[in-house]
Amino acid sequence: MTLQWWQKEIGYQIYPRSFKDTNNDGLGDLPGIIAKLPYLQHLGIGFICLAPIYPSPNIDNGYDVSDFTAIADSYGTMVDFELLLAELHKKQMHLVMDLVINHTSDQHQWFQQARSSRNNPYHDYYIWRDAKNGVPNNWQSILGGSAWEYNAATDEYYLHLYTKHQPDLNWENPQVRNEIKKIITFWTNKGVDGFHLACAIYIKKLQTFANVDNMDDAYRDVDGIEVFLDELTATFHKLNVAVIGGAMNLAPAHAQKWFGNHGYFDLMFQFEHTALWQDTQRSQLSIPALKQILVRWQNTFVKYGWNALFTENHDLPRSVSIYGSDRHYWLESAKCLAACYFLMRGTPFIYQGQELGMTNAHFNNINEFRDAETIAIYHQKIAAGMQPNEALAYIDRYSRDNARTPMQWNHTSKAGFTQGQPWININTNAAAINVTDQLNDESSIFNFYRTLIHLRKQHPVLINGAFRLIDTNEPSVYAYYRWNAAECFIVVANLSHKTAEFSFPEQFNHDLKRLVLGNYVFHSEFMVAYEKNLLLQPYEVAIYQMMPAAKYTL
Ligand code: CA
Repeated sequence: MTLQWWQKEIGYQIYPRSFKDTNNDGLGDLPGIIAKLPYLQHLGIGFICLAPIYPSPNIDNGYDVSDFTAIADSYGTMVDFELLLAELHKKQMHLVMDLVINHTSDQHQWFQQARSSRNNPYHDYYIWRDAKNGVPNNWQSILGGSAWEYNAATDEYYLHLYTKHQPDLNWENPQVRNEIKKIITFWTNKGVDGFHLACAIYIKKLQTFANVDNMDDAYRDVDGIEVFLDELTATFHKLNVAVIGGAMNLAPAHAQKWFGNHGYFDLMFQFEHTALWQDTQRSQLSIPALKQILVRWQNTFVKYGWNALFTENHDLPRSVSIYGSDRHYWLESAKCLAACYFLMRGTPFIYQGQELGMTNAHFNNINEFRDAETIAIYHQKIAAGMQPNEALAYIDRYSRDNARTPMQWNHTSKAGFTQGQPWININTNAAAINVTDQLNDESSIFNFYRTLIHLRKQHPVLINGAFRLIDTNEPSVYAYYRWNAAECFIVVANLSHKTAEFSFPEQFNHDLKRLVLGNYVFHSEFMVAYEKNLLLQPYEVAIYQMMPAAKYTL
């Protein structure tokens, strides 16, 4: 199979507001991204994914778009955007943009017109129901509460699956579908290489608008969505762009419809593994559960589709603080987690700062948080009887603001992010965890990622070779092998803070194992051994190349 650029290359997810500020207003911007492209190239990144940079009232973190074909002032101008694209392409890199197709902001011109009168030509761009019998049905928004909001000017309710400031578009209206096509074409004509589609699974609504017992029946993957998706896919194919599916909550059994050669999208972010630690009853991550999820998705996408491999994004706390140990085994666990997910089958994505092992922020006060959802959760917990310090401890661990503290470029007081007042506090550990120091340190997390990227480029088996889990008796050990007709690699990781034993499967016992990368120095690099058993240190990871290389037809 011929590999596409989005399969071969490594993705880097940028949260522009917190990446690099060039005009010292405390907000990251597009010129900041341009300035840091050489850094990303040095790391080995092939494409960047931008969180929304469109004009937005920012009720939902930029996912409430008020103009789909413009750049928000705080990020720069369309000229800056074009320059960013030109610089990326000059470096043989690609750009993927977030595309929000389920709804708009209520400040969007379409909605401003639509809500003014039932006779307005834009009225039918949204979903309305007459108000005379009260709330139209029992549909609940994804965030909780009724999905309907009253509009006095037309004496109607409009549908919103997210906040009331994000009215849902009426995809039944061909003009709406045409508008979306125009938006996609607009950006593709500028040279954008791919799109990340949030919430595409919701674009079709149950047309009877009847009460439902299960909200999925009302608006999730509803029969008939295929018609809209076929149209959308035809547009993407014609323009030859990559399409990433996100926020789908898809079961593996339904993945075939959506992905692969006969599906709608090219690759998918699945969030099952990141949901594991949101279970607050669990003080410790369940590693067997994690393994089960990862392996299920590896197996799901063997025949079709392609995994987007990741552990972090701008909606999640920092992985080294959640899956790893940011106090006692910071360096070891950051590297261990990196190797674990990076060498599975799929395209690895790095979220900004992850390559440095950036940690959770450890907020001291509710006033230090910026995310409206986090602040709402804090007040809900207190209303439910939790003590303020307990509620603070909860959000301190789980808030997505942990991922949004500014990128730590150097050890100065503003971490090289800005010379102004940053929009959110900089993590106090920037003096210890920053780009400048790690670039100069061969054993840094940055350089470990760089080596992983290099390894994956050198050995195609690590891109599209087969994947198989190695069964072990130790619940904390995650081990797998990747193989094709030419090569075989074994990745062994101990995801706990205790030592753990590992035995190679018998079929490998008599073979030479060349340690190509590890995170404990006493395994000297390039060591070749006939080892059968390993005693793994806390958060130890070891990557072995099997020799001779080509005998595995397992
Ligand atoms: Ca700025």
